[in-house]
Amino acid sequence: MIERYIREDLRNWENYQVQPVTGRKMDANESPFPLDQSVRERLSAWILEKEDLRLYPDTDNTVLREAIAAYYGLSPENVTCGVGSDQLIDYLTKLFLEPGETILVPSPSFSMYQTAAEINHGKAVSFPLEPENDFQFSAEMILKSLKEVRPKILFLCSPNNPTGQGLKREDLLSILSKAGCVVVLDEAYGEFAENETLDLISRFPNLVSLRTFSKAYGLAGLRVGYALADPEMIRAIDRVRAPYNLNTFSQIAASCVIGRAEYKEHIRTIISERDRMYKALGALKGIKGFHCYPSQANYLFMQSDLPDLGARLLEKGLLVRAYSGKMSAYARVSVSDPETNTLFLEAIKEILLP
Ligand code: PMP
Repeated sequence: MIERYIREDLRNWENYQVQPVTGRKMDANESPFPLDQSVRERLSAWILEKEDLRLYPDTDNTVLREAIAAYYGLSPENVTCGVGSDQLIDYLTKLFLEPGETILVPSPSFSMYQTAAEINHGKAVSFPLEPENDFQFSAEMILKSLKEVRPKILFLCSPNNPTGQGLKREDLLSILSKAGCVVVLDEAYGEFAENETLDLISRFPNLVSLRTFSKAYGLAGLRVGYALADPEMIRAIDRVRAPYNLNTFSQIAASCVIGRAEYKEHIRTIISERDRMYKALGALKGIKGFHCYPSQANYLFMQSDLPDLGARLLEKGLLVRAYSGKMSAYARVSVSDPETNTLFLEAIKEILLP
């Protein structure tokens, strides 16, 4: 009955599918660390003493914008916030794409760029990242694709989800200086990589850096993402931002956690666990076609001849991100706490070794 009223191009549209949660969660690149006790206490004190949830939240996210800006040494005019960086991806396609216009994206990469473009009447064209090259970005390939496709927006994900490699600074600089379009640099996993890109915001007014509290800061449940960019870009994004987009509790929690020393420690632990897992998985190289790619993020991307690697790990109580179709040889595992990571390494050895 409703079908005929739905936009024609959305009649076969599938919502973002999330696999059911069973077993130890190593599928969504979440943080394994619980919320820090001192942050819990600050949030509890707010509920007990100041809570006023009758009122709409601050529509400008003032305290959070100021906290983010102070942490990076920027001005609040360089910052805007979204309900997860997902919402900002949607806003950017809403803001810039005329119907039928194109975004350029890496493949494989985070599916939300294409989803947002299509929902907002645009389309996505991709350039490939090659397994032979450990899925590294090639500035040459990107510049060539930019010339051919002439997109309105170039989305780059660094480190790239799900493959794990980041863009080199000199490549990013050469892309930015020649892009001729809006460049969105999705740095959802940037805290786990070495590259510093902050200074580029003042040099390139067409650059938007997207970041999130969902990964390194362990606040995925509160849905807070943010964009760093030139003030003119931020004002443009704010034109399409929904009023009151972030709820009060998320604004307060995110402004409490940013820059706290314990998160630096969490990040160091994740990086050292990732390197431990990568080394251990390296010893399994070639067994049943197994290969683990290098990563600068909080996950590792693996390939094997077993199309059911994800299901086999799930039988052992470990939920990783499995893929279907032309990606069925691949799986992505999130770096978790040391005990879970060790269980994962034992499980994968049992599966691969005869
Ligand atoms: N970008 C990338 C590359 C991601 O992997 C994710 C989460 N899976 C997001 C953005 C969205 O993160 P959030 O909406 O939780 O901020």
